[in-house]
Formats: sequence, C-alpha cells, structure tokens
Amino acid sequence: PLVLGIETSCDETGIGIVRGHTLLANTIASSVEQHARFGGVVPEVASRAHLEAMTPTIERALDQAGLRLTDIDAIAVTAGPGLAGALLVGVAAAKAYSLGLGVPLYGVNHLAAHVAVDQLEHGALPKPCIAMLVSGGHSSLLLVPDVAKEVIPLGSTVDDAAGEAFDKVARVLGLPFPGGPHIDRVAGGGSGTAIAFPRGKHDDGTLDFSFSGLKTAVARWVEARERAGETIHVPDVAASFQEAVVDVLTHKALLACREHGVRDLLIGGGVAANSRLRALAQERCDAAGVRLRVPRPGLCTDNGAMVATLGSDLVAAGISPSPLDIPADSSLPITTVHV
Ligand code: ATP
Ligand code: MG
Ligand code: FE
Repeated sequence: PLVLGIETSCDETGIGIVRGHTLLANTIASSVEQHARFGGVVPEVASRAHLEAMTPTIERALDQAGLRLTDIDAIAVTAGPGLAGALLVGVAAAKAYSLGLGVPLYGVNHLAAHVAVDQLEHGALPKPCIAMLVSGGHSSLLLVPDVAKEVIPLGSTVDDAAGEAFDKVARVLGLPFPGGPHIDRVAGGGSGTAIAFPRGKHDDGTLDFSFSGLKTAVARWVEARERAGETIHVPDVAASFQEAVVDVLTHKALLACREHGVRDLLIGGGVAANSRLRALAQERCDAAGVRLRVPRPGLCTDNGAMVATLGSDLVAAGISPSPLDIPADSSLPITTVHV
C-alpha cells in the first residue's frame, strides 16, 4: 500500500510517500529562516507556516512520486511529541485527508519515526536492535524489539538534549541558529583534543546522559579567555566540544549493546547527521563487532518520509488505524509508538 506521511512537530512541514520501505517522495518546507533572528523556534510562527505550506508540500510530493491523491491508501501523521500548535496543523490535515479519501489514519510517535526511517536506506530493522535517538529535544537509548509495536527506554538525558547543547554552544561561539550543522562544519578546521572539556556521566555506569555541565564549561572557558583579552580559536573550541559529546554518546551506545547482548546499533535524530559522531560510532562499532546503521543526513533531521515509513510498518503489522478524534499530544511518551 501507498502511505503518505505528514510531519509538523517543529519547524519543518514534511511530506513523505512510501510503498513498504521504498521511498517515492520526500518534500519539505521549513520556516527555519523565520525563527533564526529569535535564536529559537517561535511556536506561533511555526504553526502559521505549517498551515501555509501544507497543501503545496503535499502537491509537490505527489508530483515527485508521479501519483494522484486518490492513489494514496493510508495517511500517517506525527501525533506527538512536539510543539502543540504545530502538531495540531498536521493532525487536522491528516484527519481531513483520511476522511476525504476514505483511507485509514495512523497517528505515530515522532521519535519512533526517527528510528523507523533508517529502513528506507538499510532495509528492515533487526529485531531487536539498540537505537540511540539524538535530536533537538531528546537524547535516549532505546531497546527496540519491534519499532511498530514496542520501544523500551534504557536511559536518557537528565538535562539538555544533545542537539540543544550543540545549539547553545553555537550561540556562545557566535554561530547561526540552528547551530549543530555549523559546529560540525567549523569543527572540521579544529582539533578535538585541543581543550579537555568534561564528559558528564561517562563513567557512572548508567545509560543516561548529561550535557548541561559541558555547555556551561564551554561558556565559562570562552568568557574567561574573552575577559583576559585572548583571541579564541573557534574551530578548536567547536571540535573539542563536539568530541566531548560524541565520545559520551558512542561510549554509552556500545555499553547498551553490551549490556543487552545486542549486535545491531542504529543512530537516529538530527544529531545523527553529525559527521564526527558518524565516524567515531563506526570506529567503535567495528572494534566491538557491532553492526552500525545511520540514515543519510537528510533522513536524520525532521522529514515526512520517516512518518510514512512508520505508518507503512503499522499497516504491514496489521495494527488497527487510529480513531478520527485522536488528539495532538505534545508530550507523547516514546513508549507509545502509535495512538
Ligand atoms: P525532536 O526530534 O527531539 O522533537 P527536533 O525534531 O527539533 O527534536 P531534529 O530535527 O531531529 O530535532 O534535530 C534537530 C537538531 O539536530 C538541532 O539541535 C540541530 O542543531 C541538530 N543537528 C542537525 N545537524 C547536525 C549536525 N551535523 N551536527 C550536530 N547537530 C546537528
Ligand atoms: Mg528543524
Ligand atoms: Fe525530530
């Protein structure tokens, strides 16, 4: 069956169309430039932009796939978590299309969709696998027996998400919002061993993370140098900060694999686009005999294809569609894969 996925949890209006694990279209409209001058996403602005972008982005996806709306067999939509008003636009649109076309509706979890999307590139997920979800709002390690049915949290950040730390440190370094991709780029010209920043919770034996101490340490380091009138080599600061984050992430991801006797690791979410994370994870997985899967960067950040993919898995698993009165749930827990 052909599944159309709608993603509006943050500032990207994403539409994807898949058949099974084959990607037929993936279109996106972003309101990121409208938020840049505020240094963060403004919820009202994002909601408004979703409303304006919805129809044209769906039309572009149908064009890309060479399909008509009436060809679609099911609609999947992000039901949460995310910004309440932004989610509402996608959920309302999905209900309207489901009702109008007479096709089933599947409300899915955005975080589980970040995990499911990898199947478009690397085929069906091994059951079970360990998934590390690292994004703008979340940083978690998950045991995934079956992404369409069950996701078990093993650990998560106790303060900032990894992406949030990237964005805050970028701000300290005077880089534009969202800062993750800029840190990644600038770090390429610096040394990850130039400054020894703290690795929070590295050796505490848990599968949890902490990034707020690191963020503060970077800010203090920069302030101290500035006060002393010293010039800061931004690439070294960016690279050393990045190294501290990815060192802890990869260390804990492999700890989770070892503790649960799982030999397949997946990394998903926006921070999975980070080039140093991808390289270090590959190195450490190779050494540990763990198979690593990371989607291409364009599928790591928010998109509609990830929602369509999880919807397609739900259809394949014979899971009942969602009722037409499902709410948008801004704090939908990761354990609720579909609503
Ligand atoms: P969530 O999925 O938790 O609701 P979100 O949807 O806002 O949050 P994503 O789109 O999955 O988050 O990821 C966005 C985050 O990823 C931002 O914090 C951004 O800075 C970060 N990011 C994107 N590319 C990179 C990169 N190359 N290196 C590091 N961070 C990156
Ligand atoms: Mg975004
Ligand atoms: Fe996301």
